[in-house]
Amino acid sequence: MSILVRENIPLSPLISFKVGGPARYFVEPATAAEFSEALSWAKQKGLETFILGKGTNLVFSDLGYPGLVIYTGKSFHTVTWDGNRVRAQAGALLHTVVTQSVGKGMAGIQHLAGIPGTMGGGTYINAGAFGQELKEVIVTVTSTTMDGRLVERANAECGFAYRHSNFFHWNEIILETVLELLPGEKEAMQSEMRETLRKRKEKQPLHLPNAGSMFKRPPGQFAGVLIEQAGLKGFRMGGAMISEKHANFTVNAGGATAQDIHDLSSEVIRRVKENSGTTLEREVIFIGEFLPWPR
Ligand SMILES: Cc1cc2nc3c(=O)[nH]c(=O)nc-3n(C[C@H](O)[C@H](O)[C@H](O)COP(=O)(O)OP(=O)(O)OC[C@H]3O[C@@H](n4cnc5c(N)ncnc54)[C@H](O)[C@@H]3O)c2cc1C
Repeated sequence: MSILVRENIPLSPLISFKVGGPARYFVEPATAAEFSEALSWAKQKGLETFILGKGTNLVFSDLGYPGLVIYTGKSFHTVTWDGNRVRAQAGALLHTVVTQSVGKGMAGIQHLAGIPGTMGGGTYINAGAFGQELKEVIVTVTSTTMDGRLVERANAECGFAYRHSNFFHWNEIILETVLELLPGEKEAMQSEMRETLRKRKEKQPLHLPNAGSMFKRPPGQFAGVLIEQAGLKGFRMGGAMISEKHANFTVNAGGATAQDIHDLSSEVIRRVKENSGTTLEREVIFIGEFLPWPR
């Protein structure tokens, strides 16, 4: 393979929670051809693959990842504008695309300011905030399949839903997302964006490692309210803690392991179910082996 495959690379520095073990194999492709090459290398070796963006919505097990981690978060980040359409490579930061769109007076994603992930991760999970979701502005998504075939799909084929898309079921790498935005009032959008960033700073524990909302919003309810009502604000297991500032944020309060975060989220699910009857579903994605809780 022409791209460098590195071995036993620590993943915790690349994950916003700053936990978890190493990747057995690790590559950082810079072109679509290199992504295909990485996939076929893994296929030849019989290895599983995992696509890593900015690592802001996931936790790898403390045992690490035994296959090939394909990292998009560094080299594959070109953003090209054509009128009100923007084509963003998977490694481009969502926040960068948002600030560019606002700077160009284009509306539709200004409330997504401050989401710290990539366009690939945002497309995969249909990132959203304050009433806007990427699915509302996505036109097409181009991905590569495990056998190196490029596929361009229209929005309707991607099965976008609340924090979900069909990419959860397809073993593909998202390479590019095309968004279509609408002309808007530049100054009004700039102030909406500032307001969004202010709210994030005021309500979220941004000073401690976290991965955003731990749980999805149950229909008609708020996960944070249910967790708070169960008396869990400030509740701690090992180094993982329910934030005092926002109960749907779990933080690494110092020295947390991936297992601590997994245990805490399992205990929250158990106690919230006991207290309110609602079963919370994790939004943060856990990868690899975790011990069950309670044990
Ligand atoms: C402080 C904070 C605030 C946040 N606020 C929000 C919010 O308001 N709204 C929101 O929706 N999210 C929020 N998040 C969560 C997170 O930032 C988003 O979900 C983001 O879109 C994840 O992107 P990422 O690049 O970090 O993905 P990662 O965490 O690296 O990966 C997430 C998933 O996407 C897959 N993936 C990533 N890139 C690709 C690709 N190119 N092809 C195929 N699959 C891929 C991964 O395999 C993984 O399954 C927040 C997180 C933090 C830390």
